[in-house]
Amino acid sequence: MRDINEMLVRRGYLWQSFEIYGGMAGFVDYGPLGNGLRRSLENLWREYFVINERAIEIDTPTIGIEDVFIASGHASSFTDVAIECESCGKIFRADHYIKEKLGIETEETAEFVREVLSTYNLKCECGGRFKDPENFNLMFSTTIGPGKGKPGYLRPETAQGIFINFKRIADYFRDKLPFGVCQIGRAYRNEISPRQGVIRLREFNQAELEYFTHPGNKKHPLFKKYNNLKIPLVDKNDVEHNITLREAVEKGIIAHELLAYFIGKTADFLIRAGIKKELLRFRQHKDDERAHYAVDCWDAEAKTSYGWIEIVGIADRGDYDLTRHKKYSKEDLSIFISYDNPIIRKVKKVIPKMSELGPTFRGKAKKIANALENYSGEIGESIELDVDGERIKVERKFFDVVETEEKIFGERIVPHVIEPSFGLDRITYAILEHSFDKDVVDGEERYVLRLKRWMAPVQVAVLPLLSKEPFTSKAEEIVQILKNSGFFTERDDSGSIGRRYRRYDEIGTPFCVTIDHQTFEDSTVTIRDRDTTEQVRVKIDELPNILRSLLVSERDIKEFGERFR
Ligand code: AMP
Repeated sequence: MRDINEMLVRRGYLWQSFEIYGGMAGFVDYGPLGNGLRRSLENLWREYFVINERAIEIDTPTIGIEDVFIASGHASSFTDVAIECESCGKIFRADHYIKEKLGIETEETAEFVREVLSTYNLKCECGGRFKDPENFNLMFSTTIGPGKGKPGYLRPETAQGIFINFKRIADYFRDKLPFGVCQIGRAYRNEISPRQGVIRLREFNQAELEYFTHPGNKKHPLFKKYNNLKIPLVDKNDVEHNITLREAVEKGIIAHELLAYFIGKTADFLIRAGIKKELLRFRQHKDDERAHYAVDCWDAEAKTSYGWIEIVGIADRGDYDLTRHKKYSKEDLSIFISYDNPIIRKVKKVIPKMSELGPTFRGKAKKIANALENYSGEIGESIELDVDGERIKVERKFFDVVETEEKIFGERIVPHVIEPSFGLDRITYAILEHSFDKDVVDGEERYVLRLKRWMAPVQVAVLPLLSKEPFTSKAEEIVQILKNSGFFTERDDSGSIGRRYRRYDEIGTPFCVTIDHQTFEDSTVTIRDRDTTEQVRVKIDELPNILRSLLVSERDIKEFGERFR
């Protein structure tokens, strides 16, 4: 872990934010290579979750007004319990502290924490006593505008920006379910004591898909693609199952096919991005662990030197969010679903008798007649109506009841939503750890970052054998050809060629192209493979096509040229 963290800083993957001022826990800067890797991850994510789904991507503000988070429940429920030491003033996240010191999983309530503290007489690391535990809201608050302004919060997830645009989105999809809406962007959580580098950040990057579906149709037409996928599934009772996703649905371990589909697709995506299959599992949330909005939830977890860490959360949020925003905004966030064939239903209709209503109710008679015509509840010997805020009981003699047939063309429903939510920073870090390797080449130890070829932030390094003319000009010419072909390319002419190869191995560059003496005789260069260190000689003209084939596949370079030794 020390080796990789040192490399990540030295080579420009990840830097401590605000370093020259002493730094601040919970923030990280992406250097040029880290930024490139995260960008590749985002692009792969788009390919999987936007392009290959019936989905769109939107972009909404990172600051939200208070109304949004009151409705979403974050203003009241998005809390962790904090404990503060009376003597040294250190503050800890209670559940993490208790797990670390006592090995106990804690419920996230101040009452429970209070009880544990007193039962086990748990003290601070300095020996001091803790003050009474407190609920701490994880949202960063701010004010919008000058003076007192309006209260606002930095969004703790990108999802709310999607829910509050639901009407526009449904319109975009012409009300045809299912559809997905994605957002990639920053989220903010004022974590109580972030001590695990990139794993627990106060500002981080999410890629979220909200997949809206009919509550009665939690299936996906492409589930068969992942039907037979076996990936360790740890259920809410901590029992591990090594069965296919289809079997897990049939046995009721995973609530439904749509969740299983996204578990399969997530596994597929993570492995394509460079997470090792043997270091990946899915874990179901326990009943007391689920977020306030979730009906069922599975986390993708990657094993790293920090232990098993959650990198993706896949939740069935039901209709929680839309129903809440519907209630608080008073906007209709349901959609009309037309039936393929209209249903014929027998209905009782109330027909007002104006001749009776008029003399009795006088000025109100017309309004009562209207209310009776629109009445759709139970019909008894009398009907109670609300007319201009007044409750009026209308006896049976004031109306007739007739039975008619009505054609029903569809129904209004509030869709359910399945949300795969990806933490891009944690995934980036897990990929880096899973790719980091040490081996021996020609009797010399080297560090090598075995990133998936296409993901590498520098895909090709162009190395002139000698750092003088005409080698350097030729190298520049080839760099331009490769950049014009869309590859992330660097040129490096400093140091021995062996040292330069090691430098690019260490940052994960899959291919080095070398200009040597023969280049000037027959317009060829060599390509060297990071993983095998094999080299082949190829024509410069063919270089872009060969590199493209190599970068998007795991093919062996020996297929593409004459072996070079
Ligand atoms: P959640 O909404 O808590 O399920 O979070 C969704 C994903 O965001 C998680 O699976 C993590 O990968 C990521 N995530 C959540 N909190 C943090 C954090 N404090 N720092 C970095 N990533 C986070």
